[in-house]
Amino acid sequence: MSWLSSNLIDGNVRERRIITVSGIAPDIDGFGLLVDPTLRLFGYSSNLWGEFHHSLHNLGFCLLVTIIAYLVASVNKFKVACMAFLLFHLHLICDLVGSKGPDGYQWPISYFEPFSGSLNLYWKFQWELNAWPNIAIGLMLYLMVFWFSKHHQRSPFELVSKKADDAFVGILNKIT
Ligand SMILES: [Zn+2]
Repeated sequence: MSWLSSNLIDGNVRERRIITVSGIAPDIDGFGLLVDPTLRLFGYSSNLWGEFHHSLHNLGFCLLVTIIAYLVASVNKFKVACMAFLLFHLHLICDLVGSKGPDGYQWPISYFEPFSGSLNLYWKFQWELNAWPNIAIGLMLYLMVFWFSKHHQRSPFELVSKKADDAFVGILNKIT
């Protein structure tokens, strides 16, 4: 969703990379998901996932990401920063709507952190992360990526490698 949205403004792969990373940046605080099981392998016990997940899902970190996006972009700086701000918030909305844990925990978002802890957001109808609406939305986004890649001759692979992007678009051109 972040990469597709990054194509809404004029820019190069650098700008699309910045916007895409801004959209997934809040989940940097989910590093415990990888670190906890690794530490367990070495006999340590930790709960970094439980302690830190959602600690960067807030306005303070969003403003930092927005400023960095502005500084790092080389063209269309203001629009890139606006997109970074919007995509960060789209991430928060998606989490509020459909990321309930398997144990039923809703991971409330303390929106005004670190300035204030006064607003804790959650949605009582929130569905689970692996529920069918997320699968349906995911499939729809894959179709949109395929369609966009075919018609604009570039794909999300451009974010990591021009070669991989060319190969993917080449295959799409052959089979469609
Ligand atoms: Zn998140």
